[in-house]
Amino acid sequence: MADEARSLLGGSPASSPVLAGRGRVSSSSSSSSSSSAIPPGHSFRRVTLTKPTFCHYCTDFIWGLAGYLCEVCNFMSHEKCLKNVNIPCSCIAPSHVRVPVAHCFGPPGHYKRKFCTVCRKSLESPAFRCEVCELHVHTDCILFVCSDCRQCHQDGHQDHDTYHHHWREGNLPSGARCEVCKKTCGSSEVLSGMRCEWCGMLAHAACYVVVTPECTFGRLRSMILPPSCVQLFSRNFSKLHCFRISENLQTESEKKNYASQRTSRSEKEDTPRKIRHLVARSLFRFRLLPGRGVGVLPSRAPSSNEGDDVDGSTQGPAKDVQISTDSSKQTLKIFDGSDGVKRNQFRLISVPRIAKNEEVVEAALRAYYINDDQQEYELQTFTQQALLSDDVINRNDAAEDSNLGSVFRESVPEAWIIRAKPKDEEVIRIYPAWLQEGTAYISLRVNRDSTTQTVIKEVLPLLGRQAECLQNFRLVEVLMGGKQVQRMVLDSQKLILNRLEDIKKISIRQMNQTRFYIVENSKSTVQVNVFVGGLPPQLSPEEYMNILKDELAIKTNVVSLSHVYQAQGAVVLEISCFSEAERIYMLVKDTTINDKPLNAVVIPEVMASKIPQNCWPLLVFVNPKSGGLKGRDLLYCFRKLLNPHQVFELTNGGPLPGFHTFSKVPSFRVLVCGGDGTVGWVLGALEEIRHKLVCSEPSVAILPLGTGNDLGRVLRWGAGYSGEDPYSILISVDEADNVLMDRWTILLDAEEPAEGAENGVAEPEPPKIVQMNNYCGLGIDAELSLDFHHAREEEPGKFNSRFHNKGVYVKVGLQKISHTRNLHKDIKLQVDQREVELPNIEGLIFINIPSWGSGADLWGTDSDDRFEKPRIDDGLLEVVGVTGVVHMGQVQSGFRSGIRIAQGSYFRVTLLKPIPVQVDGEPWIQAPGQIIISAAGPKVHMLKKSKQKKKKLEA
Ligand SMILES: [Zn+2]
Ligand SMILES: [Zn+2]
Ligand SMILES: [Zn+2]
Ligand SMILES: [Zn+2]
Ligand SMILES: [Zn+2]
Ligand SMILES: [Zn+2]
Repeated sequence: MADEARSLLGGSPASSPVLAGRGRVSSSSSSSSSSSAIPPGHSFRRVTLTKPTFCHYCTDFIWGLAGYLCEVCNFMSHEKCLKNVNIPCSCIAPSHVRVPVAHCFGPPGHYKRKFCTVCRKSLESPAFRCEVCELHVHTDCILFVCSDCRQCHQDGHQDHDTYHHHWREGNLPSGARCEVCKKTCGSSEVLSGMRCEWCGMLAHAACYVVVTPECTFGRLRSMILPPSCVQLFSRNFSKLHCFRISENLQTESEKKNYASQRTSRSEKEDTPRKIRHLVARSLFRFRLLPGRGVGVLPSRAPSSNEGDDVDGSTQGPAKDVQISTDSSKQTLKIFDGSDGVKRNQFRLISVPRIAKNEEVVEAALRAYYINDDQQEYELQTFTQQALLSDDVINRNDAAEDSNLGSVFRESVPEAWIIRAKPKDEEVIRIYPAWLQEGTAYISLRVNRDSTTQTVIKEVLPLLGRQAECLQNFRLVEVLMGGKQVQRMVLDSQKLILNRLEDIKKISIRQMNQTRFYIVENSKSTVQVNVFVGGLPPQLSPEEYMNILKDELAIKTNVVSLSHVYQAQGAVVLEISCFSEAERIYMLVKDTTINDKPLNAVVIPEVMASKIPQNCWPLLVFVNPKSGGLKGRDLLYCFRKLLNPHQVFELTNGGPLPGFHTFSKVPSFRVLVCGGDGTVGWVLGALEEIRHKLVCSEPSVAILPLGTGNDLGRVLRWGAGYSGEDPYSILISVDEADNVLMDRWTILLDAEEPAEGAENGVAEPEPPKIVQMNNYCGLGIDAELSLDFHHAREEEPGKFNSRFHNKGVYVKVGLQKISHTRNLHKDIKLQVDQREVELPNIEGLIFINIPSWGSGADLWGTDSDDRFEKPRIDDGLLEVVGVTGVVHMGQVQSGFRSGIRIAQGSYFRVTLLKPIPVQVDGEPWIQAPGQIIISAAGPKVHMLKKSKQKKKKLEA
């Protein structure tokens, strides 16, 4: 330990690659016991502090003038903390990854008070964040991100049932307390402190090492869909598709923001291209400042010779171009291998003009987060012609043998390429794909003669599997990119050293992110489930299959229908070929049938039998269009707090994909985030497919978004979400009480089409059935919401799928009907087969819950001999009249209640004229005819927020 500390402190930078492990050559093959034995690999140097600075290890202020800064990753430490630093440097972070899992980056956004995981600096906008873990990263740093995302499902590569804490450094919530020492462990000044991405445990860097590695998922354990119970073979699908995250996540305001920073480029650019631009245009320049060490400054790329990729139109907020004015320094462009050249991605370093060759090489390596021995690398010049030429890669490969001499020629070279010097021997690490306790990897020496086969032969005995047949194993090369983890089986005769050289030629960063796994051959069965919605309803399976054959040219030998939802016009396809699955998925999104766009959702398989007892995973539906920007934030929070596979965005195929995914789960609960209309939408869908669910009566909780939210109020979830901590919302859902609620079916049977029907063709409407949860209004009440509706585009998606068909005449001129306000003369009411005389009213309202029009009490609290006290589960509806707008206003203000007319369970209303009607706030004009209201199926189980918690808080 002391030796290690000494080498960290006093060792020359050239010796630090030894710490990184890669360069270490052991005299014999040896097995390393665990990855925690790898030292953190920083290159610390003493620096003079010129401004208030905090220690990244202990979060405390660094008093005095001296601190220790890692020249690679900018980790800042107290002198006293140096010997304890256990956070790995970004340059060796890939070797600490237990199971490589790519992150899921949406489009760049603006994130305040967050720090970059790679360079540890405060985020500049725009930056990326992972949509399923807490990783934040600069657009420029994204190439260096470690593929250490949460493993949210089994994918056939490294499946295991026990879960370890998944620690993520920094960006902790304010007020974070260490689980171990109970002291504050967060910091708003630096990237510091640790959080488990599953159980949410918080701890200091010093403290988290003593926590037992197994994660039990914490307080939300009973709600989290355990990752070991979900299976998804996803080779070809991007993470965004796997987690059903819409690629256009930007909210309107963010879009504007982004657009204003872009002057000319078309908005239709695809995301990868955008990212490439961002990476290409915004470069780092390393400055060596006396006493401050290496600073990483984002700077604008020089405008010349960048070509189209950096034409300045994608510039972010203009930053000062801080080209060093120090004449003793020179700035060099460094490319990482042929990949960097091909993409025209380079980094700028600034080195003293009198720097030695090896100092330049070292600075170049650090710019790419490589901490190997600089002696194993060299820089090759790179001419302008080469840059502009098409066959630039060949040229450089060909030029490799020529000795290019000193870095310092008379004409200062613009650009250099980092190249690894050829070696006759290397030590590689072989990881067993089966996670073996105690063995992270085997270090193995390979030479010019080593092939895949000889490597497997040597490794098996070291893993205790010498008795097994060589043919049963393969060597898999895994490129652990932050955005994608790519696997490639190596040919058994492949010369390993040649392969390593090839990778290094492409990019030494890629070499740093590449691993070799020894994998057991298995008959892996490919199965991808894709939900396809938006098809015409009520067709036979054969008819659906024919449509799919016609529209998507599906290959029937690898595609079969596993489920058909006739009523909803949806099918689930089982596809046994990755490329076919991907092709279908992409094609479906561009296909319309009868002018209706199809939608596709990748469905994970929930292995219901593995779900532990006492686990009722929460199925979360979020309507991102409800409540302004909050929907998107909630999606992100719930994906992060739970398993992203249990969070469904309703704009992506409605509630059906979620219910289908959970159809075999023995017991689950539902959380709907949205307005009353959204809740009605989900309850309606549940009613339709409950007979296909193992858990046919899940309890439903509500997170009310937007305005209105009468049902949310009645069930104590509040009038609307105002930014409460999503974690405590989940706790409330867990603690909520189960209550029953009546639901109602409204049958609308028009005798003749309403005036102003499409084309004016007098064609009788087929009867229409809608479901009602809250209330249904006729007359003035509906008319007002009809007016209101045009201004309110709160839930367009829901409106379309619920009621919007030929019977909805929202656009009918209101003037025609608005002055005939004698509703009692225009309708007849029958309650439980008895005619009811109507008083003089302008509005008639049927209420199921004691909240109407954003919280008003229409029935009132007075006791009345004629009627039962209303309940939401008594199988009765209350019927109330209002005399006009003034009366409605008085009800809203709580001065009066409505006129009590009746209570019953079966209603027939006869409309003699076209009348505005609204159901749960959704209005239209209904043509003359019959309206029948009756109980709909069994009562639903709702979750009512428990009062107890409030009391506890108040006490
Ligand atoms: Zn410290
Ligand atoms: Zn470092
Ligand atoms: Zn960064
Ligand atoms: Zn992630
Ligand atoms: Zn944990
Ligand atoms: Zn602590």
